[in-house]
Amino acid sequence: MPYEINETHDPNLKSWVESANDPATDFPIQNLPFCEFDTLAEGEEELEGLPKDGGVGVLIGDHVLSLVSCEAEGLIEKELGRSDELGDIMDFASFSTSTPRILSRLRRVVSGILRKDGKRIARRPAAKSRILYRQSDVRFSEMIVCNYTDFYASIHHATTVGAMFRPDNPLLPNYKWVPIGYHGRASSIVPSGTTITRPRGQTKADDAAAPTFGPCKLLDYEMEVGFFVGRGNDIGAPINIEQAEDHIFGLCLVNDWSARDMQKWEYQPLGPFLAKNFATTVSPYVVTMEALAPFRCPAMKRPDGDPAPLPHLFSERDQKLGGIDITLEVFLTSKQMRDRNLSPIRLSKGSFKDMYWTIAQLLTHHASNGCNMQPGDLLASGTISGQSPDSRGCLLELTWDGPGKPRKPIELPTGEKRTFLEDGDEVIMKGYCEREGFRRIGFGECRGIIAPAPGSAR
Ligand code: MN
Repeated sequence: MPYEINETHDPNLKSWVESANDPATDFPIQNLPFCEFDTLAEGEEELEGLPKDGGVGVLIGDHVLSLVSCEAEGLIEKELGRSDELGDIMDFASFSTSTPRILSRLRRVVSGILRKDGKRIARRPAAKSRILYRQSDVRFSEMIVCNYTDFYASIHHATTVGAMFRPDNPLLPNYKWVPIGYHGRASSIVPSGTTITRPRGQTKADDAAAPTFGPCKLLDYEMEVGFFVGRGNDIGAPINIEQAEDHIFGLCLVNDWSARDMQKWEYQPLGPFLAKNFATTVSPYVVTMEALAPFRCPAMKRPDGDPAPLPHLFSERDQKLGGIDITLEVFLTSKQMRDRNLSPIRLSKGSFKDMYWTIAQLLTHHASNGCNMQPGDLLASGTISGQSPDSRGCLLELTWDGPGKPRKPIELPTGEKRTFLEDGDEVIMKGYCEREGFRRIGFGECRGIIAPAPGSAR
């Protein structure tokens, strides 16, 4: 069942954490995304070998609420009654095994702790300093990802990219029937802010007789949204589309860094491999499905003449509310721009509602053969591109100017030009939801700077 809108979404709710009431924050009290963090205790960490605090936190304004400390202060269990239902809240993996009902109860408790007129915290103001940290004083890690799968769910992306290779027949015949994906690699998923080393690999120019091995020359980003599996399914027991969203814990931003020249040489016949698995950046916060309830929308309307999804991928409710209206933006700075204090330039702006397949369909499809999905699995949407050229979610599409034509570079304020990423470039992705009558919520940032390939001089 999709989550309903309740008092935790009330746009008039305010928090005693003042920064959460700033209209520009991504993390007002109506959002409450989960994160994995530890505190940077100066000196102490080295001595003790242990952080002061950490584990699962909730983002609020420019602070993090420690759930471990909330529990230690007795702020959670009394509210929840049977706390054993929650599992061990210090362990993110057990969060993921929680049901929507428990997650919903926890959201109400956290909302109650953080709201300005909250009674329990008002009686114990001293506890505030023991449960809250500045984001600038903590370190975020990516959520532990068990398995990673990347899809290709934007028909606009698939059509534009397909047209580069097959101008007359851009979409392959399976596209409208089966969600296309590949198994990625969980070990190289890194949190926002991690430096990305330019990969080296095999590439082959069209007119060359043999490939060469060296630094990737056509490095790209892909703007994507990822979702975490909460409760899993047993092997051999598929997930029904009507229940699919009950298995989804929440969403984050994903940058699927891509080495286009390596990809072109290696992708046939088994799909992407080393062109993708050298690094994938995620925003280290998980916006829950319940927080997104006000921003649900119909699934993308299939153009006339397109086949309806097969019955196991079709649900009336999913068609009606399976979309999520998340605005996504990509920005770029070069090293020169940062040295000259120039603001990042925006490369594109698109929306997650323009996807051909909903997240429920992607998850249902993934488990439809009996594949067992596990708590902490990350499934990403594929590059999110809309119909208009300024909504294209990667440079492969953005700088493409039509079949047979040279790529059209993007000009930076410094006069530098880009068709693909150069060393020192930083890619910054942002995502947020807005709707009349509701508080704007955001996903934070997903950023990464490109470092030179090993062994190459700058
Ligand atoms: Mn991708």
